[in-house]
Amino acid sequence: MSEILDFSKFPLDSHIQAAIAEMGYVTPTPIQVQAIPVVLAGQDVMGAAQTGTGKTAGYGLPALQRILPKANTSMSPARHPVRVLILAPTRELAVQVNESLVKYASKTPLRVGVVYGGVDIKPQADMLRRGVEVLTATPGRLLDHHEGGSVNLSQVEIVILDEADRMLDMGFLPDISRILNLLPKKRQNLMFSATFSPEVKKLAGNFLRNPVLVEVARENATADTVEQIVYQVHDSEKTDVLIDILKGDGENGGPIKQVIVFVNAKITCRRLASTLSRVGISADAIHGDKSQEERMAALEAFKKGEVEVLVATDVAARGLDIAELPVVINYDVPFGAEDYVHRIGRTGRAGAKGKAVMLATGGDSRLVTAIEELTKQKFKPAERRPLSREERRSRYETQRRDGFGEDRPRRGRKEWRDDDREGRRPVDLDLPKMPAPVYDPIFDAPYEPTETTATAETERNQSVQTTVRGQTQGKKKGRVAALLGGLLRK
Ligand code: AMP
Repeated sequence: MSEILDFSKFPLDSHIQAAIAEMGYVTPTPIQVQAIPVVLAGQDVMGAAQTGTGKTAGYGLPALQRILPKANTSMSPARHPVRVLILAPTRELAVQVNESLVKYASKTPLRVGVVYGGVDIKPQADMLRRGVEVLTATPGRLLDHHEGGSVNLSQVEIVILDEADRMLDMGFLPDISRILNLLPKKRQNLMFSATFSPEVKKLAGNFLRNPVLVEVARENATADTVEQIVYQVHDSEKTDVLIDILKGDGENGGPIKQVIVFVNAKITCRRLASTLSRVGISADAIHGDKSQEERMAALEAFKKGEVEVLVATDVAARGLDIAELPVVINYDVPFGAEDYVHRIGRTGRAGAKGKAVMLATGGDSRLVTAIEELTKQKFKPAERRPLSREERRSRYETQRRDGFGEDRPRRGRKEWRDDDREGRRPVDLDLPKMPAPVYDPIFDAPYEPTETTATAETERNQSVQTTVRGQTQGKKKGRVAALLGGLLRK
């Protein structure tokens, strides 16, 4: 398929071609080269790709092409049922996907729309009642619409799970299962995920039928654009070293202006933010105990530059769209190697230069090795300049006042209390091996940041089992089965 060097080679309708040309796309990205023909052929797809790879057009363009023969200009809502359904974890992603699809379909009579939580439901219901063929939705809000009778999903032909890993992280599995049960059994299924936890593999196994694997290795290609530094530190020095970095590793040896500091536990999150504030660094914490409103407020303040440091747990950070950052810091080595990839994915996106710093103690060596294996690199542990005795003393004073140092399991207590820990537990890694990074001529161009805001949907608690079953056949069986950890059995 690599002979396709421009979009005109794809068998896409001239109206879609015209829209692509208007958007300035000339060369398809690697994921588009792989995915477009497969989706056009009506096959299920497992896409290993993250945002920024051009995956939206990879599934969106061929999906539009497939339903285009049914496009019409009738005023009757019945002539415009939902035929393509895209599920996205956050409002921000849903809006972004919809914006692209609106453009791709702009020269066709197809109607394209989006629904997400956290806003008035009525205008969305009106839009759905008028009819929309291509619908992007966050799961919870889609179910609300279904319960309210404003949407009928019985004519969906293609369903796409975008950022499936994030959807699972955010607890959407029950909602996804309920939605899939509302769809016709005969349909095309596409799934895109940046990472492959056992849960993601299981979902893929249940959801996809004879999927073709399409992948680009951007996730593990980060080493090209992100400078990754690991400081070998002693437990007791972590906060000192962090402060030192925050105060002196910014431009021209000044403070770092906008940075996320990732931690593993809520209690560390709270205490670290308060310690930083005490030493004159404007910091706020986002973690799972904070309401969505509080997280959004913290994020807004961070985006405006009122807060310079956001201390975050993985779970809290994942529901939010935090735009491109020059630096991210791993105060704690994450328990899952995939979390490391997620965390540092906040910087160096789309070819921009980024820096990812991690503080690792002797006890973290197993976790660090797992990250090295996943990202196919070997860290060169660096040392920080030791702080002066005076500096050290004054900083320890502050930390002691905040009760710092007590945020780790006490002697004789191996585990965190459940309540303390946020995100993953240490797990045995069972990850697919990614191929070598693919150089992407488009996305390795300098990144221009945009202002976006995300609203994670409220998690919902209904529990319904999916009844969709997967099976393996086809020529890509071996690779797909390997990716899915052998789950795709009959
Ligand atoms: P995505 O990964 O789908 O979120 O796409 C990332 C960005 O790349 C979006 O702004 C797209 O409009 C843009 N894009 C996608 N495909 C291409 C392409 N073939 N050429 C140029 N830009 C593209």
